[in-house]
Amino acid sequence: MNEENPKKLDNENLLSRTRVLVQDEKNYTLAVLHHLREIESRELYLPRGYPSLFAFCVEFLGYEEGQAYRRIAAMRLLKELPELEKKVEQGAVSLTTLGKVHSFLREERKLKGSESQFKTKAEKQELVERCAGKSKRETEQLLNSYFPGKVKPDSERPLSAEQVELRVTLDFQLVKKLHRLRSLWSHKVPNANYNELLNEMADQLLKKVDPEWIDKNNSQKGEPKIGHEKSGQGRVSGEANTRPPVSRFPAKVNSVSALQPRYISSVLRREVWRRDQGQCAYRDPVTGKRCASKYWVQIDHIRPVSRGGPSTAENLRLLCSSHNQWKGSRMDLG
Ligand SMILES: [Zn+2]
Repeated sequence: MNEENPKKLDNENLLSRTRVLVQDEKNYTLAVLHHLREIESRELYLPRGYPSLFAFCVEFLGYEEGQAYRRIAAMRLLKELPELEKKVEQGAVSLTTLGKVHSFLREERKLKGSESQFKTKAEKQELVERCAGKSKRETEQLLNSYFPGKVKPDSERPLSAEQVELRVTLDFQLVKKLHRLRSLWSHKVPNANYNELLNEMADQLLKKVDPEWIDKNNSQKGEPKIGHEKSGQGRVSGEANTRPPVSRFPAKVNSVSALQPRYISSVLRREVWRRDQGQCAYRDPVTGKRCASKYWVQIDHIRPVSRGGPSTAENLRLLCSSHNQWKGSRMDLG
């Protein structure tokens, strides 16, 4: 950028030049949000090997996580309320405010459903305007005042190398469920505290859904229960679907395999899982950048079964849910 050396400017010019630069900065911010919106609508981060716009903003564009989060939240709110763009341009509303209001509206809708106080565009816009010009803390206070009981955001605070203080507001139904679990597990862990309860719950769930945990513990006898692709749209469950039950008798497995080309043996599943290290194996064909997301990883036939693709290690790979879904939508297009 061509920049005059500020040391050479007289006082008047230093002040007026700074004002111009700050206005440029605001204009650029808005332009960045417009570009992010277009990238999102074209899902351009997917072919480049990123599982989400957030990962793209952090890894490719080099934003810190908080900066990326604020920009994406602001972009989404402006998409809904384009009338606010002028205020962002003028600097009357900051990205932080937009990000906070966006998160608040999402949370409020989730908690109150049809009882939400901010259903119309006008109501949402008015809320942003009420927050405009306030500090981060004042904005948080104002937004919290709309929740009865003032739900605080979850927080984690490290206490020592072994302990973290977790603050979270639970709804009453969940507390009742936890009490029920405590009594059901009382033979195992008498008078369990929340740490013990959560620990037991986490173990029980990980046994079912975490392929790494399953692979580590069942490597002798079992198989990682990684999900399988599902041709069609929509996110599919991390649990295996469409997979026929595994037989203990090799002869039977072979006959299943011959009749159902989608069938993948437990040994093969494990082989693909290990080779791809439990991570999405999608690579950008241009840069070679690998996605490597571990989120909701599923087995994919590179050449689909419907087009004669075999269930062999060479034709199988792991894909995260974003890349699996993206591949499905591209195939639907032809
Ligand atoms: Zn991926």
